Amino acid sequence: MQELGSLGLKLAGTEEQQERWLPRLASGEWLAAYALTESGSGSDSAAMRTTARRDGDEYVLDGTKRFITNAGVANLYTVFAKTDPSAGHSGISAFVVESDAPGFEVARIEPKLGIKGSTTGELVFDGCRIPASNLLGAEGEGFRIAMRILDRSRPGVAAQALGIAQGATDYALEYAKTRETMGKPIAEHQLIQAKLADMETECEAARGLLYRFGKMADDGVDGPELTKISAMAKLKCGDVAMAVTTEAVQILGGYGYIKEYPVERYMRDAKITQIYEGTQEIQRLVIAREMVREQRGQE
Ligand SMILES: Cc1cc2nc3c(=O)[nH]c(=O)nc-3n(C[C@H](O)[C@H](O)[C@H](O)COP(=O)(O)OP(=O)(O)OC[C@H]3O[C@@H](n4cnc5c(N)ncnc54)[C@H](O)[C@@H]3O)c2cc1C
Repeated sequence: MQELGSLGLKLAGTEEQQERWLPRLASGEWLAAYALTESGSGSDSAAMRTTARRDGDEYVLDGTKRFITNAGVANLYTVFAKTDPSAGHSGISAFVVESDAPGFEVARIEPKLGIKGSTTGELVFDGCRIPASNLLGAEGEGFRIAMRILDRSRPGVAAQALGIAQGATDYALEYAKTRETMGKPIAEHQLIQAKLADMETECEAARGLLYRFGKMADDGVDGPELTKISAMAKLKCGDVAMAVTTEAVQILGGYGYIKEYPVERYMRDAKITQIYEGTQEIQRLVIAREMVREQRGQE
């Protein structure tokens, strides 16, 4: 989660901005957050209502952000706001807001289904003043920066999902080897074997897609091709995590449903990977859009 809040600086920050903030983020002395979502704009992030108005050497931010990971523990927030509210997504700009900026407040922390070790909260900007030098990139480049960040951070969600899925598979296998019914370990019942085989196969398929993203990123692939494979990796790994953890609970039977065993937590933690950094529906829209674009390019 450190990556989501700091990628904006890596991708769009000036040398001065990078020197100022990145070392403290890299060492872990500071934590970072990424603030795009609002109560009325999640999937449709360009519909955001938070504004940033230039006032001399400062920008003044007004609005609220919802569901922000690391709220209250982050020292630095990458915040997206409209500098030109009439210009749609090309009126959005990106800013660095430090947690002690005047007019900035964390209004509440949300209770959640899973990932309870991570805070999720609401940010309020009430005449929040930040130095004009905290603008990332140029005015109007914020939406592009937000999307470039997600192209590179979504595979992090995919890796999170895959880790949960493989962990659930490994746990269910160990359990199935020792739990006996009808005179033999449940791992020797064919219906349980089929579940385990499908879980392992799905994990391996998801891993293949995620590693393909990694190879392409290492090879310097950028732009639409990277966007597509990033969305595919996130989509596949998230769906595999949800399906596999649900089957792990099933393999443990009643013991899967109670908190004494870890698989109910895996199932709760898996769900978020289908929702944040773009829902699975949005990943499908992104993939289909890139497919159409590719085909047009070939015509
Ligand atoms: C725990 C947690 C942590 C989060 N962390 C962050 C964070 O750090 N930073 C941040 O900015 N945001 C964060 N989010 C917000 C998250 O990215 C959004 O919740 C998510 O993008 C969905 O937006 P929404 O909740 O407004 O749902 P909506 O956009 O209202 O969507 C509701 C449903 O409609 C579907 N839908 C919407 N539009 C379409 C469409 N065009 N076609 C088909 N289906 C559609 C969605 O897929 C979904 O199923 C976090 C959320 C949670 C729960």
